[in-house]
Amino acid sequence: MAPMMHYLRALPRLHLYLLAAVLSAITLTVLLLPEEQAAPASEPRLVETLKPATEAKADQEPALDASPEPASVVTATEATPPAPSEPAALAPKPEPAPALAEPVSPVVTENWVEYTVKSGDSLTTLFQRAGLGARDVYRISQAASGQGALKYLKPGQTLAFLIENGELRKLRHIQNRLSYTLIEQTEAGYQVEQVERSPQPQTAYAEAQIQRSLFLDAADAGLPQRTIMQLAQIFGWDIDFALDIRKGDHFSVLYEQDYLDGEPLDRTRILAARFVNKGKTFTAVRFTNSEGDSNYFSPDGHSMRKAFLRSPVDFRRISSRFKPERYHPVLGRKRPHRGVDYAASTGTPIKAAGDGKVIWRGTKGGYGRTVILQHGGNITTLYAHMSRYQKGVSNGTRVKQGQTIGYVGASGLATGPHLHYEFRINGVHKNPLTVALPAADPVPEHEREAFAKQASQLVAELERHSDTRLALNTADTTP
Ligand SMILES: [Zn+2]
Repeated sequence: MAPMMHYLRALPRLHLYLLAAVLSAITLTVLLLPEEQAAPASEPRLVETLKPATEAKADQEPALDASPEPASVVTATEATPPAPSEPAALAPKPEPAPALAEPVSPVVTENWVEYTVKSGDSLTTLFQRAGLGARDVYRISQAASGQGALKYLKPGQTLAFLIENGELRKLRHIQNRLSYTLIEQTEAGYQVEQVERSPQPQTAYAEAQIQRSLFLDAADAGLPQRTIMQLAQIFGWDIDFALDIRKGDHFSVLYEQDYLDGEPLDRTRILAARFVNKGKTFTAVRFTNSEGDSNYFSPDGHSMRKAFLRSPVDFRRISSRFKPERYHPVLGRKRPHRGVDYAASTGTPIKAAGDGKVIWRGTKGGYGRTVILQHGGNITTLYAHMSRYQKGVSNGTRVKQGQTIGYVGASGLATGPHLHYEFRINGVHKNPLTVALPAADPVPEHEREAFAKQASQLVAELERHSDTRLALNTADTTP
């Protein structure tokens, strides 16, 4: 960037203006990407959430994937696609947008006039709609470009104008409910400021006994759908929610939900939870370590997660299992199969089974496009026959468990699209479906004290709510 600035300074003034005009023309074109966020209409209804029960199991993202990120502008250029539910949290409420409502009638709030960005809009078309001209577009884009403001106008977002006597005084680019860019006219020209709002978390509690399904009963108990998914993720390592759930199982959840201006946001995080499955009790508490990473642990400090996903892809079926027999020249053509084949459609994301480092990314004979990861404990995992690699994943890249590293394909020697997956300990192939998976790291020694204090507080609060509920129920049913 620095050399570029020197170059700019060296240019004659006129050239500078021309260059700026060209640059702003490029950067201000609206991205025509369709909104990633789900419109309210497509929000899954609870009836349909029965299906995700199995998906939650197969899709064993790190439990915290669903936890809120600090409010930040969602850009379209992230290498890793956000977890499916993530953008919804920050999603601007898209307007229902009546079809063919031309000319667009603006929403007037005091002196502010707001326009919703539509597909195909650019800064120019939006300014025209607000009655402003090319000169205003130029001046605003000049001010904005230095800070990367107004760069990504996405359909569904809002531009708000404050115009007085034909002069644009203020412009707000509202990215979502929690963040907007304010461009304000001052003596010194237009000033740009990025504003982030902080929601207020509120603690809530829910508990239920399973009568029909986790999803239906948890929804009846008032648990937000997002929180139900988080619950299934936290305990998904120990409980198979598709197969293990029984009538009479019981859970209790202490969670936080974020509010903005008194309205609940779709941002929740579980603080502590307990699940009784077939008489066995599992308890989890959330702990944020000194580096700011949050994870779930049992009250004695063991991670609720395993260090590896059992299956690193959402598959249709297992098309070939692990067969360790070696080729025997006398007996004939017995060929070993040193991994598992997961049949899935081309393009299905392949996830890193565990935290690790990429030690191979490239074509590898019959394996086709292949990624090999090195993990702790002398474990390596191999992913073959990819159709393509994930952008940004190359030799030496550090990856997190659940992060997409490539996509299912049929490169190399493969008769159809599938993932061939291998798991090696000290170079020896193990059956990925049965190998004992190590637990993820426990709470580190130096954080034990802080953890123990927080864990006992959370468990106490969880039990206090539970006892209160029990007392109320008992009072109801006894004469
Ligand atoms: Zn295979």
